Amino acid sequence: MEKERKLIVAGNWKMNKTVAEGLDLVSGLKRELANIKEIDIVVCPPFTALADVSRAILDSNIRLGAQNMSEQNFGAFTGEIAAGMLKEFSVRYVILGHSERRQFYRETDALVAKKAIAAHAASLKPIVCVGELLEEREGNKTEEVVARQLKGSLAGLTKSQVEETIIAYEPVWAIGTGRNATPQQAQDVHAFIRKQLTSLYDENVARRVRIQYGGSVKASNARELLKQADVDGALVGGASLEIRGFSDIIKNSI
Ligand code: PEP
Repeated sequence: MEKERKLIVAGNWKMNKTVAEGLDLVSGLKRELANIKEIDIVVCPPFTALADVSRAILDSNIRLGAQNMSEQNFGAFTGEIAAGMLKEFSVRYVILGHSERRQFYRETDALVAKKAIAAHAASLKPIVCVGELLEEREGNKTEEVVARQLKGSLAGLTKSQVEETIIAYEPVWAIGTGRNATPQQAQDVHAFIRKQLTSLYDENVARRVRIQYGGSVKASNARELLKQADVDGALVGGASLEIRGFSDIIKNSI
């Protein structure tokens, strides 16, 4: 599939997989995906598996991401993990502002922006998640919500940092529900996000930023979704927990 930007497919394991299970999964992914050069492949295990998974994928085309991080660099913040600590395990990407963090841990756009600034300061690429709730879509509020989240969550980043940021459009009603956005629905919001990036920054920035779609992506729907002009990859939850599920999404999208 010829695309303007290199596709990036990331697996968000959420609070799943012991170290042993994570190692089994990446060993299968290494085998299945060894020859893939066309797509950036990222796995985001829980913090407890980062060290071992990092060693296991050292000699592969799979890169490491984390699912969250602190906006602080060090100090008395019990239970938190700093960007510098992630770097110790060769983490390259970090998911920020996932809807589960926003919904269950009350993360705000302002906090996500602070985390994004801290991530860039440590040379981690943030994957910043935005997306509307079902009632917001039904109330025709999708663009308003996504525009607000985008502007708020990127506040304070320089243009070149925004270019190195990945946006994940994840309609909340499509996450873990088996009900994905249609390719056209995804394309419409992705094009809107790119338009917003043009007015917040400029056309060059907007052209360079990769925008992933997330929400019930699986092997059977990935190709159509990722074929859309402004869809530059996928953030995958449930289907990233199985070797076949995740590797077929990637193989089917080339
Ligand atoms: C996610 O949580 O980022 C996600 C997209 O989950 P799922 O693929 O399971 O809908």
